[in-house]
Amino acid sequence: MRRSKAFIPTSKEVPNEATLPSHIFLSRAGFISQVAAGLYNYMPLAKKVIKKIENVINEEMEAISAQEVELSFVTPADLWAESGRIEKFGKELLRFKDRKENLFVLGPTHEEMMVDLVRNRVTSYKNLPINLYQIKTKFRDEARPRFGLMRGREFIMKDGYSFHSTFQDLDREFYAVEAAYKKILSRLGLDFRVVEADSGAIGGSGSKELMVLADSGEDTIAVCSKCEYGANVEAAKRSKRGHIPEAPEAEFNKFQTPDTKTIDDLAQFFKVDPYYTIKCVAKRVIYEDSSEIVLFFVRGCDNLQEVKAVNATEALDIVDVTEEELAEIGLIPGFIGPLDQDKAKHVIDADLKNAANMICGANETDYHFVGVDLSVISEVAYFADIAEVNEGDTCPYCDGELSFTKGIEVGHIFKLGTTYSAPLKAEFLDENGKSQPFIMGTYGMGVSRLVAAVVEQHHDENGCIWTKETAPYMVNIMVSNIKDEAQVALGEELYTKLQDAKVEVILDDRKDRFGFKMKDAELIGFPYTVIIGKELVNGNVQIYDRATTEKTEVKADEIYEKIM
Ligand code: ATP
Ligand code: MG
Ligand code: MG
Ligand code: MG
Repeated sequence: MRRSKAFIPTSKEVPNEATLPSHIFLSRAGFISQVAAGLYNYMPLAKKVIKKIENVINEEMEAISAQEVELSFVTPADLWAESGRIEKFGKELLRFKDRKENLFVLGPTHEEMMVDLVRNRVTSYKNLPINLYQIKTKFRDEARPRFGLMRGREFIMKDGYSFHSTFQDLDREFYAVEAAYKKILSRLGLDFRVVEADSGAIGGSGSKELMVLADSGEDTIAVCSKCEYGANVEAAKRSKRGHIPEAPEAEFNKFQTPDTKTIDDLAQFFKVDPYYTIKCVAKRVIYEDSSEIVLFFVRGCDNLQEVKAVNATEALDIVDVTEEELAEIGLIPGFIGPLDQDKAKHVIDADLKNAANMICGANETDYHFVGVDLSVISEVAYFADIAEVNEGDTCPYCDGELSFTKGIEVGHIFKLGTTYSAPLKAEFLDENGKSQPFIMGTYGMGVSRLVAAVVEQHHDENGCIWTKETAPYMVNIMVSNIKDEAQVALGEELYTKLQDAKVEVILDDRKDRFGFKMKDAELIGFPYTVIIGKELVNGNVQIYDRATTEKTEVKADEIYEKIM
């Protein structure tokens, strides 16, 4: 690219409300331009960076056999009704009607669409697993779009979805995607942590976030001084529910039948994530006046194999209630468990009718609560897992100490289980010819947010400092004096040579002053600028390293070797 022909509108203007370096520099250096709140145009340099990030993602996805697709951005609202998310998503979901009065939404994420694509097309366990992803514009009508590309309303996300016949296989894939995501972020030159997005203390790995460490990050994460452990403190706090949900009559009635209830039914009813309801202790309490309640203590866990005994003391920790309160409803410390692993694995027909005992666990083979007769429930209390994380706490994995730091959420991976496949009736035939909902994982990565995250971590007071895998151009060749024929000739020669060697190179052949061009190069942040200037009379040029800001004088005929 010749700078004289490029559209790179750099400026001194700092956009109103811009406080973050990434927002300021990406705007000033001519990468992005704002259209309206949370809406941005990507100009040529931003497009280049995005493409480079996408390439890295594509390569690492290919390596784990994930396939790229592209689904329609406009998605039928019907699908969102089917999954029950149309209400849950609230105002972030932009809805509109077409000329035939059909309701659509602009995809903020594509679980429903992907499930719809796969259902009835993949019908046997033999064709599983599969992992499909896309890199695509998303729209979320964020309440507070801000910080430039960091929190846009329209943004680019890599969203992937995997389909499995067993939870074990989902665990394997989840781990593979986590490893791939780590590779991607390392290749992009980012300092990051993988943190537990849910409860810090329990160590469940059903949901993990990839956090780029930066003071400007909106999330607070607890990290260990010794090992790799990290947890999102906000998420841990958010999961601190502990209220008794008021079940709407209609919803409650769904449970009036004595049918077998699936874990998803229960999850929906208790408004908790099904993947986390798997580890659950339930207690049916019969009052003297014959009214009954069932108490569920919900804990996060990875899979059923890990069902642990829960004793009363632990339960007290989990649910934030006092011993007196528990006693009031018939739970006496010592009464709950401890159960041994074996018993917990057979979740024996959770016959709440006859059991005034505690029932723990779930059916190992099909992950269903069997025979839970909820028709007897007159009141339900649940307590989601709560996990406070404090600075100075001992790490749950080693004897290191936890400290707080700020992070930018650039990725989020999640074991969905059957959350979407069950309501959308996306099923396959298992080895026994039995129809089962797909067991799913979902994997998001914020591509446009990553552009901002790179700058947050790599900049100085003069502008951006792009890393090798993200730089729009690796080398900027700067001809100091465009009237000097020797300088121009060397610039042209080097430009051709580097282009032939497939180095991303830009030739600053503008007539402007050297100082102005240099400031521009610093603002944009090319990793290397080759300055062809006065030193050429001695046969030398300078290589300016943007990261260290050091200039090294080298022989003109050695530049090529130096840069390569
Ligand atoms: P946040 O907590 O920042 O609102 P989220 O948890 O709502 O993000 P996810 O639903 O997990 O986001 O989406 C996957 C990824 O998409 C996020 O990890 C993030 O990198 C990116 N992302 C989400 N919302 C935005 C946004 N408004 N602008 C840019 N990127 C976003
Ligand atoms: Mg959000
Ligand atoms: Mg989040
Ligand atoms: Mg998230």
